[in-house]
Amino acid sequence: MFKIKNYINGQLVEPESGEYLDNYNPAEGKVYSLIPDSDDRDVQKAVVAANAAFDGWSSMPVLKRSAILLKIADFIDRDHEKLARAESDDNGKPLSLASRVDIPRASSNMRFYATAIQHFASESHMSDDQALNYTTRTPVGVAGCISPWNLPLYLFTWKVAPALAAGNTVVAKPSEITPMTAYLFSELCIEAGLPEGVLNIVHGLGAKAGQAIVEHPDIPLISFTGGTTTGKHIAATAAPMFKKMSLELGGKNPNIIFDDCDFDQALKVSIHSSFANQGQICLCGSRIFVQEGIYDRFVSQFVERVKTLKVGDPHDETSKVGAVVSKQHKDKILSYIKLAQDEGGEILCGGHQVKVEGRCEEGYFIAPTVIVGLDATCRTNQEEIFGPVVTIIPFKAEDEVIALANSTAYGLSATIWTDNLKRAHRVSHQIKSGIVWVNTWLFRDLRTPFGGMKQSGVGREGGEEALRFFTESKNICIALK
Ligand code: NDP
Repeated sequence: MFKIKNYINGQLVEPESGEYLDNYNPAEGKVYSLIPDSDDRDVQKAVVAANAAFDGWSSMPVLKRSAILLKIADFIDRDHEKLARAESDDNGKPLSLASRVDIPRASSNMRFYATAIQHFASESHMSDDQALNYTTRTPVGVAGCISPWNLPLYLFTWKVAPALAAGNTVVAKPSEITPMTAYLFSELCIEAGLPEGVLNIVHGLGAKAGQAIVEHPDIPLISFTGGTTTGKHIAATAAPMFKKMSLELGGKNPNIIFDDCDFDQALKVSIHSSFANQGQICLCGSRIFVQEGIYDRFVSQFVERVKTLKVGDPHDETSKVGAVVSKQHKDKILSYIKLAQDEGGEILCGGHQVKVEGRCEEGYFIAPTVIVGLDATCRTNQEEIFGPVVTIIPFKAEDEVIALANSTAYGLSATIWTDNLKRAHRVSHQIKSGIVWVNTWLFRDLRTPFGGMKQSGVGREGGEEALRFFTESKNICIALK
């Protein structure tokens, strides 16, 4: 069986333990490759390599650094088909989605930061005519980058690209559930001539390899994307060591639909924002609030359309919903559907596993599920399910829906549908989340700040925010008189 390898000091190597973990293809429910079960020894080797590479990489002229990252981006584009296939097989997502979104975005991330660093500038402040202050921004050192399974290469590169562009060296751990494209990425780095030790990828369990990264005294900065519970644990470990931290965590995002919206557009995009990637995007709108004037019409048309979404083999171009990422995650989603019923929810469609014939008959498929009749305060409407499950809740007034939207512990993103410009601004300002989309969803401009409020995270990524995070600022004040 194919064995994924760690990428340490420019070499593809076996884990120190010699042990491997099973890697499943979730659409088939079968093990199809093996992942290094790395531990603190592998992380230690990676940190030593990253430290040794730091001086050379951080002092390399920016244009040269940028050229290597651009070459990696070109190789991602060249291998687009192979990478999309690998992402779909590893994660269960439709091949068409991996091909259209995940892989193009991975090369965009590399290209964006490879060029952004050429324009990155720091401030200077003239203090009357007494003194000149100027700020320098220098790379921090060895960055620890830990990424989740839902958008594997997309989110892996979203961290690694700005970290490297800013001149840091990196020890990264992709999710053990979806390691394949990060492994293929390491092959591309070797081909592109990335100097040894600049990027090190250690595969394995979060609690073992991930924890060793977070605890390592020579890693002064952690960029983490994943669940809120893991984020709390990471913060508790890293904060007493005074590490710089960026935490991109979970969400329970409201999708607010006012009577005065463009109904057809709201309906169409809401189906996408509910079920894209099997609902496993941190930005999915899992709580749909619909104003009472259009509530009945919206619910009936939404359910009618959701029933037509084809759940099936991710390789089949007509499949709109693929497999969820693992058996464990499938069981978690089904337990939430059961909870919703126990809490008095009515399931209008879905609510069950789907058996897909052929090669996928053992796969982890769940029908897109729409639930009504639940109060906004119940657990189903407060906790992140992270699957193809949405609830629809009616509301009367603007103030009421703002309070409901803000009523969870999360604050990652929100969507608002209205044709009333003043209302769009008014509501956007009052929603407590890091991102608000009005009459659209998942429109991303990589220059914008990205991140969550409340328990959805600490800090912002994206654009200059990421370059600032991955650098240390120093102010130098020179007396002029
Ligand atoms: P997890 O928190 O389970 O894992 C994220 C990563 O952290 C994985 O690589 C995991 O490894 C690792 N990890 C786990 N425990 C530790 C530890 N003790 N120390 C260091 N690393 C550890 O999240 P999921 O992978 O399940 O991803 C889904 C979650 O991510 C959802 O909550 C979703 O909302 C959130 N997310 C947030 C985004 C955002 O931008 N705000 C974007 C995308 C997802 P392993 O897989 O081996 O356990």
